[in-house]
Amino acid sequence: MDFKKLSVFLEKNGVPAFRLKQVHDAIYKNFAASWDEVAVLPAPLRETLKREFRIHTLDTAEIQVAKKGDAIKFCFELKDGLKIETVLLKLLPDKWSLCISAQVGCPVRCPFCATGRKGLKRNLSPDEITDQFLAAASYLKKTRNHKIGSVIFMGMGEPFYNYDSVGDAIRVITDPGRIGLGQRHVSVSTAGHVPGIRRFAKDFPQCNLAFSLHASDDLLRNDLVPLNRTYPLSQLAKALTDYIVMTKRRVFVEYVLFEGLNGSRSQAAKLSSWLRAVAAPKYFVINLIPYNRTGGPYRAPAKDRIKVFAGLLEEYGFEVTVRKSMGEDIDGACGQLAGK
Ligand code: SF4
Repeated sequence: MDFKKLSVFLEKNGVPAFRLKQVHDAIYKNFAASWDEVAVLPAPLRETLKREFRIHTLDTAEIQVAKKGDAIKFCFELKDGLKIETVLLKLLPDKWSLCISAQVGCPVRCPFCATGRKGLKRNLSPDEITDQFLAAASYLKKTRNHKIGSVIFMGMGEPFYNYDSVGDAIRVITDPGRIGLGQRHVSVSTAGHVPGIRRFAKDFPQCNLAFSLHASDDLLRNDLVPLNRTYPLSQLAKALTDYIVMTKRRVFVEYVLFEGLNGSRSQAAKLSSWLRAVAAPKYFVINLIPYNRTGGPYRAPAKDRIKVFAGLLEEYGFEVTVRKSMGEDIDGACGQLAGK
């Protein structure tokens, strides 16, 4: 919603100033998604606003709910007809986390990722990012009376290639006068965009940083995360050390496991050494993510191999979690978003 334009419009039409605040609160606090839901306004004004202003910059094209009910995928259509996807994940019985998109497609082109295979179409605007939150929050409120407890920028795109819009959206999401989610409940996941990590440390030291590692040698990582050719592991390590020194915050390490590629004993040792060269193990939480099928040649390792890999990392002193796959049946799991 363009509140500047709305303010000018209301003033021009002699509408009292307090109406603007009512609209503001209806959208940001009560998650109204249509003018009919802004019941506090007189009906004639609602009808006028319906003709003049859209509440959200995107339309919900499709909503898919996973069989287990623990994931909900939204396909949103933007004004230019392009589509993006956003996923709600139920982490606890009434706690939902929103996985938000920052771009249409992604320029990084990781070969195992459905988004990456499409390449970049364009960046999303701050409103297109924030509106993913508002539309999902509105749906959750209406269908379950639940709230979104956290946000992670891990949907489509590399957030730091669209830093300014992502930054503006984080400000709206965390501003107590607008959506008001605590900064500690907002995470940004990068494929290793070094300048972005450095800016993020300065701009949002209270938010969480996650990064996708997937391999701790340049040769393999060049293939799995092509951004490594621009920002190799040595540069990434330096940026992460500086980030941790500056923020004193723990960093989340995303490590997708592929059968026969990156889950051996020697790779666990390499991963441990690489992280220890960045900072002490207490500064990391390693999230192991068994690969989710996206139609490529990759496979996830067997469960017992994942367990062994996780155990080795724990022996090296790291906190390790193995991500439970959620939403795979609706192609809403990690790496599966394609904006179909
Ligand atoms: S995994 Fe992330 S960075 Fe890589 S192509 Fe997919 S969206 Fe882009």
